[in-house]
Amino acid sequence: MKEFRTNPTGLTTKEALQRQEQFGKNELTPQKKDSFFHKVLHIICEPMFLLLLVAAGIYFILGEPQDGAIMLIFVLGIISIDVIQEWKTDKTLSALKDLSAPHVKVIRDGNEVTIASVDLVPGDLMMIYEGVKIPADGIVIKCSALCVDESSLTGEAEGVWKITTENVEPSTDYWRKDYCYAGTLAIQGTATIQVDKIGATTEYGKIGANVASAPDEPTPLQKQTGSLVKLCAGIAAVLFALVGVATYINIPDHAFGDRIIESILAGITLAMAMIPEEFPVILTVFLSMGAWRLAKKQSLVRKLPAVETLGAVSVLCVDKTGTITMNQMTVQDTWANGGDTNHLSEIMGLACETDAYDPMEKAMLVHCEKLGLTKDHLFGGKLITEYAFSNELKMMGRIWLHDDEIIVAAKGSPERILTICALSADERTNAEDKIREMSEQGLRVIAVGFMNPKTESEIPEKISDCSLTLCGLVGLADPPRESVKNDIALCNKAGIRVVMITGDNGITAASIAQKIGMLNADHIITGDMLNEMTDEELCEKVKDVSIFSRVVPEHKMRIVKAFKQNGEIVAMTGDGVNDAPALKYADIGIAMGKRGSEVSREAADLILMDDNFSTIVYTVKDGRRVYDNIRKAVGYVFTIHIPIAFAALLAPMLGVGPASLFLLPLHVVLLELVIDPTCSIVLERQPAETDIMDRKPRNPKEKLLNASVLLKSITQGLALFAASFGTYYYLLEQNPENAALARTMGFAIIMLANLFLVQVNSSDHDFAYQSFKRLVKDKVMWTVNIGTIAGLIVILYTPVNSFLKFTPLSLSQLFTALGIAAISILWYEVVKLIKKLNK
Ligand code: ADP
Ligand code: MG
Repeated sequence: MKEFRTNPTGLTTKEALQRQEQFGKNELTPQKKDSFFHKVLHIICEPMFLLLLVAAGIYFILGEPQDGAIMLIFVLGIISIDVIQEWKTDKTLSALKDLSAPHVKVIRDGNEVTIASVDLVPGDLMMIYEGVKIPADGIVIKCSALCVDESSLTGEAEGVWKITTENVEPSTDYWRKDYCYAGTLAIQGTATIQVDKIGATTEYGKIGANVASAPDEPTPLQKQTGSLVKLCAGIAAVLFALVGVATYINIPDHAFGDRIIESILAGITLAMAMIPEEFPVILTVFLSMGAWRLAKKQSLVRKLPAVETLGAVSVLCVDKTGTITMNQMTVQDTWANGGDTNHLSEIMGLACETDAYDPMEKAMLVHCEKLGLTKDHLFGGKLITEYAFSNELKMMGRIWLHDDEIIVAAKGSPERILTICALSADERTNAEDKIREMSEQGLRVIAVGFMNPKTESEIPEKISDCSLTLCGLVGLADPPRESVKNDIALCNKAGIRVVMITGDNGITAASIAQKIGMLNADHIITGDMLNEMTDEELCEKVKDVSIFSRVVPEHKMRIVKAFKQNGEIVAMTGDGVNDAPALKYADIGIAMGKRGSEVSREAADLILMDDNFSTIVYTVKDGRRVYDNIRKAVGYVFTIHIPIAFAALLAPMLGVGPASLFLLPLHVVLLELVIDPTCSIVLERQPAETDIMDRKPRNPKEKLLNASVLLKSITQGLALFAASFGTYYYLLEQNPENAALARTMGFAIIMLANLFLVQVNSSDHDFAYQSFKRLVKDKVMWTVNIGTIAGLIVILYTPVNSFLKFTPLSLSQLFTALGIAAISILWYEVVKLIKKLNK
């Protein structure tokens, strides 16, 4: 490819489009889409559908093509529901993926715009800065102190300092200094890069690293329900044989072939009724819809399993600055050593970056401005060199030449600055008193010092070699976000520990922790203490710690490990490049959408679009809601399968002839058609229970179907079975000729009871009418309810009924069915009432 130079205004939109057509998208492997046919095939291969198809086939063989055709129509119905659901979840998930996909800043049409990294084309001018994972290969056009970690390509751990093409010396090295490579990481500085190669043609693409992205692992819940479905299928197989044999014995008057076929049909009916094939569907629908709802609330889930883990979070480790606080600083207090406040402010200003982006430095410059120290005045001299800020040193300095005077202006955490200041004992105690006083008010204290080397050669190599004169102290306020206090109270009630992590000093952090109502606000571990501790000691200590102060990002990994060791489910926030490993290791890694680095976002499970602590708490709460609803849905599916399966099992056992059976395969399929949408639509939408944040976090080892859920499902299911099958059997005994009426009554009872059942099981505590009232304005709810009733009317009162072997019910029969259905389900409301009274 020839090297073309893009002019400084970048490509035009039109050029970019043309090049995209020519070179394709910037991705390693083009995205594969499952074809429609593929999806349908996938669904048909489920055991449930194989059963259905076998049943339909048998009907055709039996010479009952009408029955066979109806079965096939139902099969089509179920397939379309599944395809629609899958299509919807796919769409949701890919929309989420797009939202959280990497972005990059480029210059197009002369403006700086942010585009998705896949849309980069050769010739684009991209802006690279600290924390960006470089998305394409390109030539360095402009660059200021750009250092790149190329270890993913070269294995070389040491960062590489980049230079522009003009300054490069000829070299035989394969890896160029004036070139940036896709897949590497900018760890310092800024640069403008002209994209040269994209996608698979990049060096990164050539080595094929990461090409096969990890396949989507099933989530723990998916594994759990998967084995549940298998278990049910196993039991179904055994009962299949039992029912088959019973049917065979029941009909000695039939020809041998008919006996076999009827036996198989009865067995299939039972097997279909027993396999809870809705479970996997529930999971994907609930999790992806949950993620979608969260995205609307500024919280982007990058990995689907995170939605279920969220509900189990027991420790929230959060950065103080920007997450708990607003990250809007102001200089609130100053103390000048010797009284010259103006000089203190001037040195403080000189120690700031010329174009400051750090909120603290911005606040300092605003303060200077107020005192008449304009930027023009401060930065009018010549910058000789600077000592860069590092998390370890927690201080920085800049060296200016102002009117022939060399000034080293330094600022940083008082602990560090004071160690490089020459101070008398008196001055030191004064300063220390003042530091404590400011910190106790929750202010961040910064010490400012200076020195005047005579010549440039006398400027110390490192900031720690300086010997400064202390100018004084500056106290900066960064107020907590307004909502934080409420959220902390919510977490305290919900048994979720909040742990504050900060680079600030412990007293400042403790004062803020106190203000926002954190428990144990005086239990602090400092970075230095952490360095001294063994992992075992740390595990012990974290049991009641609330604040980690003066820590560096590298400490976060040890903190997460210690909590996890203690069996906690840890959520950890992070924004910097160095936070990425801890974010990956935490159960829920949370990156910041606004100020976070690209790398931290890539490592995270969750991206907070508004960097706000409240959003984290909301997200955890919603995770609990989703889990609750999944559990309710699974319980519901279990319940509703019981009357169907028992009816399919018991009728042949009681010696009912094949033609008079309660449920023929047709009816089972019809019920399946109703169950799946009702639960995945109605139960997915249920709002959080009122006590959702009054409970302790759920035990992550707990099974989805625990004893109490099972007990509830089984009793409910048996009650419904007794009501529907009892009615059917009673009517059949009265008049064996009228199997159709008996069946219709029984079937109507199940259909109507289903409507009550979703309402009753919508909440564990609230009564059905309360749950109903909550969603009374919800159109979807009404569609489901009215749809069920309309469906019932169609199958009872139109010619369809004869195909389905139903008979129209009289009005009084219909109301009898309604009454029986209501009683068979609503008794559970009394249980709720008793539970409530006993509390
Ligand atoms: P946090 O974790 O609260 O964001 P930081 O890691 O940003 O804290 O900062 C930790 C400490 O480093 C601060 O309390 C301050 O003492 C010092 N510090 C931070 N930024 C600067 C800066 N630009 N100049 C001098 N000192 C700084
Ligand atoms: Mg900070």
